[in-house]
Amino acid sequence: MTTNQELFDTARELMPGGVNSPVRAFGSVGGTPTFMVAADGPYLTDAEGTQYVDLVGSWGPALLGHKHPAVIKAVHDAVDAGLGFGTSHPSEARLAELVRGRVPGGQMIRMVSTGTEATMTAIRLARGVTDRNIVVKFAGCYHGHSDGLLAAAGSGVATLGLPGSAGVTEAQASETIVVEYNDRAALEAVFAEHGERIAAVITEATPANMGVVVPEEGFNAFIREITQRHGALMIFDEVMTGFRITEAGYWGASGRVEGWEPDLFTFGKVIGGGLPTAALAGRREIMEHLAPTGPVYHAGTLSGNPVAMAAGVATLEHATAGVYAHVDEKAQIVADALTAALDAAGVDHTLQKVGSLFSVAFGTSATGVHNYAHAQAQETFRYGPFFHAMLDAGVYLPPSVFEAWFLSSAHDDAAIGRILDALPGAAKAAAQA
Ligand code: PMP
Repeated sequence: MTTNQELFDTARELMPGGVNSPVRAFGSVGGTPTFMVAADGPYLTDAEGTQYVDLVGSWGPALLGHKHPAVIKAVHDAVDAGLGFGTSHPSEARLAELVRGRVPGGQMIRMVSTGTEATMTAIRLARGVTDRNIVVKFAGCYHGHSDGLLAAAGSGVATLGLPGSAGVTEAQASETIVVEYNDRAALEAVFAEHGERIAAVITEATPANMGVVVPEEGFNAFIREITQRHGALMIFDEVMTGFRITEAGYWGASGRVEGWEPDLFTFGKVIGGGLPTAALAGRREIMEHLAPTGPVYHAGTLSGNPVAMAAGVATLEHATAGVYAHVDEKAQIVADALTAALDAAGVDHTLQKVGSLFSVAFGTSATGVHNYAHAQAQETFRYGPFFHAMLDAGVYLPPSVFEAWFLSSAHDDAAIGRILDALPGAAKAAAQA
């Protein structure tokens, strides 16, 4: 048997940090990353044969759990027909129809391969449509790693404590304005000064890359109103929330808000069912600015790949109201148990939750966590011991306190039971940190 440590030693020789995406390196929690070799239902198995209850869900796609039989069969069938044609094919429109059927305002869809590509293309489109340059984003929101969107970004950028990224030019940075989340006055001030130059405001429908942060009542609607007032577009990034959050309707977070729609949506994760697919969507008159009908260029060798489309179609076809009810219920059970365990161990914390997406922030009860400044001020040092206690008890959490926990329809009573059994010990470890 090759151990996780041996695999990590080899990987570090060959890949920066031993990884292909930074948070996987366990930098903020310490210790040796687990090298997974199999995934089934709610479980992951590592190279040493240890099984874990998985609360990462491939960082979101695994809404139905791992290896859902219908998804696997659809993928097998697609593979049997060929890995890709480099042409149009029928299942692209099938996935597009499934997205449009659940997304008011998503009249037309363009498939891409990653969430990064979806937001990058949405921004190019917004600039092309408005003929303006500036993009406004919120501190702590993560929209992938395209140059202009790395300023004050969440996810791995937050985990590593970086202000942004080296390699992003001043010119690119100067066209991104960063505003504190949930701060209407700051957004008003930015529009008062730069309103005529702002192409778009991009926001996570519910921020979940600085931990989960709940949009204050009416905040998303305010973004809609102020962008409309100034002729800018609103890009609603639902890469994380899309087809996962169920507050009203069962397709995404913007379903929570009645009476308005963003101009553009971005999706990823769940719509690819575990394979590389993401998308942007919006009204016809905006989307038709994309090539070949319009002048804004986007293309991709693997865009709309048939194997990825098959995984997405099967996933959305099986993402029924019953699935969402199950995921919501289990998320509530785990979130309640987490709070109870931390309370019992005397660990000050805030439980941040919207729908089935939640995360914990230590030492924040005095302020709550309403923005990135609050998220950054938390006692991050408690998370490493907490994480490792859970790992030792057979539960795989996100290896960063700035990430949300993901449940799936495969998390049955046995899997949930293992999580609940592990929490008290982990809470004690957090208390002693
Ligand atoms: N937007 C949001 C809201 C995300 O959470 C992520 C990834 N976690 C992305 C964009 C980027 O997606 P990808 O990692 O597929 O490039």
